[in-house]
Amino acid sequence: MRYISTRGEAPKIGFDDMLLAGLAPDGGLYLPESWPQFETAALDDLAGRPYAEVAAQVMAPYVAGSAAEAALPGHIEAAYASFEHPAVVPLRQLDAGLWLLELFHGPTLAFKDVALQLLGRLFDFELERRGARLTVAGATSGDTGPAAIEACRDRSAIEAFILHPEGRVSEVQRRQMTTVAADNIHSIAIDGTFDDCQALVKALFGDPDFRARHNLGAINSINWARVMAQIAYFFSAALALGAPHRRLTFCVPSGNFGNVFAGYAAQQMGLPVERLIVATNQNDILARFFASGEYRKDRVRPSISPSMDIQVASNFERLLFDLVGRDPDRLRGLMATLDQSGGFAVEASELARAGEVFSATAVGEAETRATIAQVHKESGQLIDPHTAVAVAAARRLAPAAPVVVLGAAHPAKFPDAVEDATGLHPALPPRLADIFQRPERSTTLANDLAALQDHIRETLERRP
Ligand SMILES: *Cc1c(COP(=O)(O)O)cnc(C)c1O
Repeated sequence: MRYISTRGEAPKIGFDDMLLAGLAPDGGLYLPESWPQFETAALDDLAGRPYAEVAAQVMAPYVAGSAAEAALPGHIEAAYASFEHPAVVPLRQLDAGLWLLELFHGPTLAFKDVALQLLGRLFDFELERRGARLTVAGATSGDTGPAAIEACRDRSAIEAFILHPEGRVSEVQRRQMTTVAADNIHSIAIDGTFDDCQALVKALFGDPDFRARHNLGAINSINWARVMAQIAYFFSAALALGAPHRRLTFCVPSGNFGNVFAGYAAQQMGLPVERLIVATNQNDILARFFASGEYRKDRVRPSISPSMDIQVASNFERLLFDLVGRDPDRLRGLMATLDQSGGFAVEASELARAGEVFSATAVGEAETRATIAQVHKESGQLIDPHTAVAVAAARRLAPAAPVVVLGAAHPAKFPDAVEDATGLHPALPPRLADIFQRPERSTTLANDLAALQDHIRETLERRP
């Protein structure tokens, strides 16, 4: 399989190079040159198999011809052995036609583990093969930091420095980052805000000498391999509920559009998906686009589903590329307009193409809380606010259809919102129950680039 850039000005590359590159050199996002196809017989053959086997079959065409090809099934097996549920991503029925796909049984209780547990292993494998080492640098407002840390821990070719704003993440989130007993993980508290942390990381990448000397990299949210790993659970859920002989709708709580784009990829690969519902919170750039064809930035309004508080959706460019008929010149024009004037509009025919697959809707704060309460009352199940946004959207747009809602995070990850809505405090699962007793390890630094660079340099000098 070869990978092309959405902007059309970067050479085609194979899986191994794409994995380490993240963003394409022309500023575009990588996509497979074509969608691998699964016929009905191939889908029938996958039904009933364990998750790791389904995942290996679904991902195989994407790594075909790469160095990672032979090792992939082993990496997948190891990645999903770290999940607490034997089904890895179990389905739970909430209502007559409504299922919850629980994607939060990984080490940090959010769906990002499904991709990152595999990505950490793929990175390590490729780096060792090249005899290279990578210094991962990232900033977090609370949710991606723990998943990135768990993905990098104990990986011999990776050192990870993850910055968070001191005193501005929840105690569980902080402890998820500071109590990891792995020598290659370096948790840093910055005396500043999340924006300060992000600016520091950007400045690290913007210093060419520092970047080259320490081989700085990111396990990026726009890396195709993350989307690739997420395609597998659309297959496994659909197969468990009767595919390829029954069509299902998926409803996805969306921020950067990575998760729902994986559903689109599954459909393009031949999985019979009826519709994909894009559910957003009050940060509704995606819902507005699917209603009007206009994609326009707005300011971020903080919500009780913070992992979906975004201004622009970084993975949306991948769908846009297909909507404009894979014409990179037209895509570059739209992205330039977005940069210059904060928005663009697509043609009616392009919007109609999106409407064949996608529906979208935005759910406000009050309805999100009410949905957490309602689901608990009806089924006894506690759900987190991100998942609740999607349950509300599914009930609004597909009241009678068989729908699978993607369960994005464990309710115990957002205990305050859940307690507000239900009066119940969701318990942490056993693997995290002792997190308040574990010793913490982190370094507090001033909001100062030179201090951060000194710290990274000195830390790396002490490492083997
Ligand atoms: C990352 C995240 C999302 C948003 O997913 P995208 O792939 O960015 O659309 C939603 N909910 C939770 C809990 C998340 O961690």
